Amino acid sequence: MPKVMADQIAAGEVVARPASCVKELIENSLDARATRIEVALVEGGIGSVTVIDDGEGMEPDDAVLAFQRHATSKVHEPRDLARIRTLGFRGEALAAIASVARVRLITRARGAESGILVRVEGGEIHPPEPVGAAFGTTMEVRDLFFNTPARLKYLRSAQTEQARSVEVVQRESLAHPEVAFVCRTERQVLFQTPGRGDAREVWAALYGVGEAKMLLEARADHGDYVVRGFIGRPTQARSSRQHGYLFVNGRPVRNVAVQQAIERAYGERLMVGRYPVYALYLEMDPVLVDPNVHPQKWEVRLSEERDVCELVESAVRAALDGTMLTVAPRVRR
Ligand code: ADP
Ligand code: MG
Repeated sequence: MPKVMADQIAAGEVVARPASCVKELIENSLDARATRIEVALVEGGIGSVTVIDDGEGMEPDDAVLAFQRHATSKVHEPRDLARIRTLGFRGEALAAIASVARVRLITRARGAESGILVRVEGGEIHPPEPVGAAFGTTMEVRDLFFNTPARLKYLRSAQTEQARSVEVVQRESLAHPEVAFVCRTERQVLFQTPGRGDAREVWAALYGVGEAKMLLEARADHGDYVVRGFIGRPTQARSSRQHGYLFVNGRPVRNVAVQQAIERAYGERLMVGRYPVYALYLEMDPVLVDPNVHPQKWEVRLSEERDVCELVESAVRAALDGTMLTVAPRVRR
């Protein structure tokens, strides 16, 4: 099977829409230890998705290699897979994206004399050219699915696609309060987080200072796993689960059991059809988490799920009962 075709098949799993590109590109920036990540969407990301970071950048050879499938600098031996700490590990995202879009990569490694530009169109890699560039990496993905019309057809309106991409940036911003995120469209800056490591400040940037100030701190420590973060008061509940954020070892995840545990803790305090807002961060030994369940790495399997759920439920309950020591909000503005 031709390489491009194999990449396009992989793309079916990895990239479903502009929002999946946003997620993969942000994860790469985070893996490259960026402290500032800017995401720019044109036509809701259907026109283009650009992610600019100030991370480690790539050497010219690596910049070309990055588009080869299973080229990852992150997993060196099978044993590494058991202890995945970086966000990417399959080495297929860029190859997949580049097989169904027009990609421009501009990157300059720290200490490199100049930057390098690599263009890839529908999987065809053009020879790299030197360019002036700041340290870090800019990845522009244009015309997603230009060569796979069947998939292009499944994209929704620019407005809907934009909403999904923005959701991804919001989630990643909360997952990484230590990173300054900028999210903008061709028309305006949608939000901007300070990157000072304070999740409440991120919440303020996303949903307003007033909302952020009302949040309650939640924390519980089991030894093997720790949960911390904050939860909304019952009056802050929403009509969807969209603003319930769960992170496991820095990764935004969905886990139905944990979600139910949280809702159980609210119990009668919530009206029917209302869902709590929260940003809860679970930390545990990576061997207890299997992130390799879903191609988009979104669902995780927790090997001690029951215990984790109990811990989370008790943390949320304590926060709501006010039996947790409340810490004064530190929202600056
Ligand atoms: P993975 O993230 O699973 O390793 P990707 O296809 O997403 O695979 O990326 C391939 C490789 O390209 C990465 O392993 C990394 O070495 C390099 N890379 C991608 N994006 C960046 C970036 N923003 N900064 C530095 N290196 C990057
Ligand atoms: Mg990656």
